[in-house]
Amino acid sequence: MTLELPYTTGVSRDGRPVTGQVDFSQVPRFAGPGTFAGLPSLAEVGEAQAGVIGIPFDSGVTFRPGARFGPEGIRGASHLIRPYNVELDSFPFAAHQVADVGNLAVTPFGVDRAVEAMLTGLAAARERAGKLVLLGGDHTIAYPSIKTLARHHGPISVLHFDAHIDTFGTYFGAAMHHGTPFRRASEEGLLDPEGCMHVGIRGPLYGPQDLSEDRALGFQTVHSSEFSTTGLEGILEQMLRRLDGRPVYVSVDIDVLDPAFAPGTGTPEPGGLTSRELLYLIRGLAPLNIVGADVVEVAPAYDHADVTSLAAAHVAYEFLSLWGR
Ligand code: MN
Ligand code: MN
Repeated sequence: MTLELPYTTGVSRDGRPVTGQVDFSQVPRFAGPGTFAGLPSLAEVGEAQAGVIGIPFDSGVTFRPGARFGPEGIRGASHLIRPYNVELDSFPFAAHQVADVGNLAVTPFGVDRAVEAMLTGLAAARERAGKLVLLGGDHTIAYPSIKTLARHHGPISVLHFDAHIDTFGTYFGAAMHHGTPFRRASEEGLLDPEGCMHVGIRGPLYGPQDLSEDRALGFQTVHSSEFSTTGLEGILEQMLRRLDGRPVYVSVDIDVLDPAFAPGTGTPEPGGLTSRELLYLIRGLAPLNIVGADVVEVAPAYDHADVTSLAAAHVAYEFLSLWGR
């Protein structure tokens, strides 16, 4: 036997050779390289048009820690992913080069220093790997991600799936934590106030001012309860209306899912979306210009049978599939 892994190969839609997933007809799915979906690493292919990058950082959490193991959990749950996305009629790993960029190694001791390192690391990764799906990590990582994108695109729209608004203020004197990335981004003018949206919001707040302050920042909110009244199609229409024609960053806090579908997370809230609803809505974003995405707050230690990591792996796959259409 050879120690070289056999990768599938093909030709991209613009005529370039592409290295795809490990050939799972020759390598058992549990014996592959451990990268996302068995994709080649960025080091192996040199450059890519799209990629996943792990940010194992959870020093910004306000409750249960553990999302630093999210990238490892999501990659581990991604090895059953096959190359053809039926609903989107997309071969994401053949249409263009996709790579696993690996992890950004940032300090767990000091949120501000870690965020600085993420800004540098993400800018370098985007140079070589194109459009990125970030695997969190806690939700703090959305702030440096948006900031690096806003340098290219100007103020961008954020479509934010979460149980929580994440535009809260300081906590224990800290201005940067996982409950506030969108407030900080908004204060710095990185967000398009005409084109931001939360989806899946629920659970108790400190008072109605939390929502009115959030509206003042420019966020429109689809509450989780509206899935019972407006329904999935109506909500998708509302999203497309608000975001059409703008550069959009999609941020998915896995706690947008009901704890039945995502128990492995730090701040679970009952009454959330099903995995099916979330994946359906992401596929429905096909008409939009998505410039970056993340899936955050997966904390495998609280998970059962990998359900949370599996959901997150498929969220990442849907973004790669949208970019590969
Ligand atoms: Mn949340
Ligand atoms: Mn969040």
